[in-house]
Amino acid sequence: MKVLIIQPAPPKPWPEGVYADEVARLGARLREAGHEPSLLVLADLDEETLRLKIADVRPEHVVIFLESYHVALARRIAELVANRYYLPIIIGGPHATVAPLETLSLIGVEGVVLGEWDRAVPRYLEARSRGSDYSATEGFWFKTESGTVRNPIAAPESPDEMVAVPDRRLYSADQVVDAAGRATLHPGRGCRSYCAHCQMDLAAGLYEERQMIFERRRPLAHLVQEIAWLRTTYPALRRLRFSGCGFPLDEAYLKEFAVAFAAAPLPFSARVKPADLDARAAAQLRQAGCDELELEVLSGSNFIRNEIFNLDLSEEAIVRAFAAARGAGLRTTALVQVGLPYETVVTVEQTANLLRRLVPDQTEVRVYYPLPGTKAYELCRENGWLSGRGEADYFTGQSTLDLPGLDAGAIRRYATLIPRMVQRPKGWPLLGWLWGRSS
Ligand code: SF4
Repeated sequence: MKVLIIQPAPPKPWPEGVYADEVARLGARLREAGHEPSLLVLADLDEETLRLKIADVRPEHVVIFLESYHVALARRIAELVANRYYLPIIIGGPHATVAPLETLSLIGVEGVVLGEWDRAVPRYLEARSRGSDYSATEGFWFKTESGTVRNPIAAPESPDEMVAVPDRRLYSADQVVDAAGRATLHPGRGCRSYCAHCQMDLAAGLYEERQMIFERRRPLAHLVQEIAWLRTTYPALRRLRFSGCGFPLDEAYLKEFAVAFAAAPLPFSARVKPADLDARAAAQLRQAGCDELELEVLSGSNFIRNEIFNLDLSEEAIVRAFAAARGAGLRTTALVQVGLPYETVVTVEQTANLLRRLVPDQTEVRVYYPLPGTKAYELCRENGWLSGRGEADYFTGQSTLDLPGLDAGAIRRYATLIPRMVQRPKGWPLLGWLWGRSS
């Protein structure tokens, strides 16, 4: 079957880029099952691009990958596909998992996939192409005349079953390898933490309800195979970035990892949890070819970090992690957010002070976006902080919250100013003056 995957995307370049491993993995699974997947990434409702793609591919089915930042755009895409091209549509991805009924209510959508979709979508398409009843496909909720059919979530793939090489050919070369020559890899799937700002929390609960193991690490042979494929396919490849929240830092894994990478080294960056990073792990990462770490600090406020977002991360643990990275010769990027629930001028100042203490090589500041299905979103909803501003505002740098302690204008200003002030500590008095003005 010819399957068109549509991926709504941010309207401007985004730090993570547009490549989605979930989409590439589904592409690989669809090819394995004999289907012909193709991909259209849409940053807006470009009707002509959609028309040309449909004329070129002649899909028999449309699959939309939906993250919660793009619900309004997905709604318009689904309506257009259904009303103009009469194609059946299913939707998967994080938003379908946390808001299945809302997603299923979009015009033209006949089914949504909850959780990982690699197994569920090919099974559904197979049943559909055979003309048999697909309404019992695990992982799917369907809209039927007699109501909503809610099938249980499909079992996630075990590490050995995971596809070794996701189908990146769905994307253009510059969507896979960025201008710095960097491609992103995913060393694992799932998570066992319960951060209040993350949709993985709810997904983990769905799997745990069925006693399924959600956090998995890909076999190193898979990673090595994927890197070899990337090298031969993309001559512009210069370095790697290991994505996901926490690169595994246990000693045995790091040793095995260093050996596996020694044969064909490429410099890489990885995201690690500050609480897990000690001097030994940092040195092992450096030995394996790592030259940069991304460390999530989130906020300088202990209350926000731990009481609201459940990070279980003390300021001392953060300071130790940055010192360990520096001691091993690793560059550091501190990841923080502003406009968090209970944010005030005081908590922003705490974030700024912590950053000054950490002296990261880079600071990435984002305006907080409350993702549906998360505990923090519920908190914002219960407190009446959801402003009604949506995704489009967020992508212009606007907070979508109306917080009692900090207005959206101040949040935007701090998001821009903080990284500059970390690099130029002499500018702190000016920031202090601005804080005073906005308080
Ligand atoms: S933010 Fe990261 S560590 Fe926390 S639950 Fe999500 S994936 Fe896990």
